[in-house]
Amino acid sequence: MSVPVHCWEEFMQALTARYFCSVTSWYRTTHHNVAVGGCPHSKHLSGDAVDVVYDPGVHQWPTLGTLQEWCRVLGYRVIREATHDHFERGS
Ligand SMILES: [Zn+2]
Repeated sequence: MSVPVHCWEEFMQALTARYFCSVTSWYRTTHHNVAVGGCPHSKHLSGDAVDVVYDPGVHQWPTLGTLQEWCRVLGYRVIREATHDHFERGS
């Protein structure tokens, strides 16, 4: 596991202060990761990734550019999936 630049709790506090959003996935067991179609080497297996969904109809999703800039500062990476944003840390 990588050494966190910031812990997820701080990250989510900052994110939820701006957007109405929830974490839908964090740590996963290998079994659950397979069940949800995760990558075999998913960062969710080590708790180094979180999936975030935004409340429907309340706010628009933050732009990917905004999140990428934010993540760059923190040493995180964001991937915009069809149904959620995936944030991960570490190389
Ligand atoms: Zn994910």
